[in-house]
Amino acid sequence: MRRAVCPGSFDPVTNGHIDIVQRASTLFDEVVVAVGVNKSKNRLFSAEERIDMLREACSGFPNVSVDGFTGLLTDFCAQHGILAIVKGLRAVSDFDYELQMAQMNASLTDVETVFVPTSPEYSFLASSLVKEVATFGGDVSALVPDFVHRALTQRLAERMAEQA
Ligand code: ADP
Repeated sequence: MRRAVCPGSFDPVTNGHIDIVQRASTLFDEVVVAVGVNKSKNRLFSAEERIDMLREACSGFPNVSVDGFTGLLTDFCAQHGILAIVKGLRAVSDFDYELQMAQMNASLTDVETVFVPTSPEYSFLASSLVKEVATFGGDVSALVPDFVHRALTQRLAERMAEQA
C-alpha cells in the first residue's frame, strides 16, 4: 500500500489544490490531505471549516481522505505509514522554499518528497491571492469550487460588517 500526503493550510481550498490532490490520487494507492491546524496562524477559516471544505472538494476521489495535523509533518507521516509528501510547484519562487523543506524532512526521516508541476491554468493561483482579490470585489468564482466561493463571499461580508 503506497500512501502519500498532500499537506497545506488550504485557507481555503482552491482548484489548484484539487488538481494536485487528484493527480496524486492517480499515482498512489491512498492520499491523505493533511490540513495544518496550527493555532498561531491568522486564518480566514477555522481548522474545522477548512477540513470540511476539503472533504467536500475531495468527495469524488475514492482513495483520498482528509485529516488535520499539528507539529512536524514527518511525525504525521510516521504515524500514518506515509511514504511520500506530494507538493505542487507553481514557480521558481516555490522551488527555493520547497527544496529546503524537502531536504530538511529527508534529514529527519526517510520520507520522500514528490514535486508535481502545477497545471498551467492554475500556475498563478494561491489561497492568499484568492482572498485578497475577493476582498476587493474581484471575481474568483472560476478559481475555487462553487461552495467555497459561497463560503468565502459570506465570510468576507461578515468580516466587513465586523470592521464597519
Ligand atoms: P497556498 O496558500 O499557497 O495556496 P497552501 O499552503 O494551502 O498554499 O498549499 C499547499 C500545497 O499546495 C503547496 O504544496 C502548494 O505549493 C500547493 N499549491 C497551492 N496552490 C497551487 C497551485 N495553484 N498549483 C499547484 N500547487 C499548488
